[in-house]
Amino acid sequence: MRKNIVVGNWKMNLKREESLELVSAVLSKLPEDKNTEVVFAPSFLYLYKIAKLCSDFERVKVSAQNCSKEGKGAFTGEISSEMIESSNGDYVIIGHSERREFFKETNADLVQKINMALANNLKVIFCCGERLNQREESTHFDWVKQQINESLFHLSVADFNNIVIAYEPIWAIGTGITATSEQAQEMHGFIRTIISEKFGNEIAENTSILYGGSCNPNNAKDLFTQKDIDGGLIGGASLNADDFLAIIHSF
Ligand code: PEP
Repeated sequence: MRKNIVVGNWKMNLKREESLELVSAVLSKLPEDKNTEVVFAPSFLYLYKIAKLCSDFERVKVSAQNCSKEGKGAFTGEISSEMIESSNGDYVIIGHSERREFFKETNADLVQKINMALANNLKVIFCCGERLNQREESTHFDWVKQQINESLFHLSVADFNNIVIAYEPIWAIGTGITATSEQAQEMHGFIRTIISEKFGNEIAENTSILYGGSCNPNNAKDLFTQKDIDGGLIGGASLNADDFLAIIHSF
């Protein structure tokens, strides 16, 4: 059975005290009887502290927002998967469209990062998604297939079990424009089909596929009730405890 997961990607927001307050506010109101996994993706700087705050909550995990493609060495300013793991991180987000666009990360770079993360016992939240012009030209399915194929399909079945996919249409990220639940479901169903063709039906059925892109308390329920949408990767709305909690409670 695949998991429902809600991830809060804080990006480069929140000072230390604000971060700790937000985590405490969310932890104090988590649904007790729910099966949903909640993941905080704070700045690297607070990851260890936040992992400690969350350590008594079995269904709460902590993610880094990025990792180096290198293992260790003379790479000033980089953070390795080994460091994330030793700071009690559980996940790392890889392939976010902001990293692809602003830091020019290619599918080949992502392969190295994914391999490094998995070798250091981290789970990977792999982001994919098309630009608006690609959707308008109806090349969005081919594009997403290529992203997944080039960055994930070299993995063994055992490693693929540690992958969560986040479908994030770029035109919906931070814009206030959400994909309709039908558009999102259509892409999620497609992603599950290509995973099934590569790794078999059982693996595909067990892979959590999250939606990201202006998800908020008003649209989360509609999205999460689609059969192939297993949760969300939440940016802006994860910075507010009430909004993030409302999204978590949408299952
Ligand atoms: C994101 O950046 O992963 C994201 C989904 O952002 P937002 O929710 O703000 O659109």
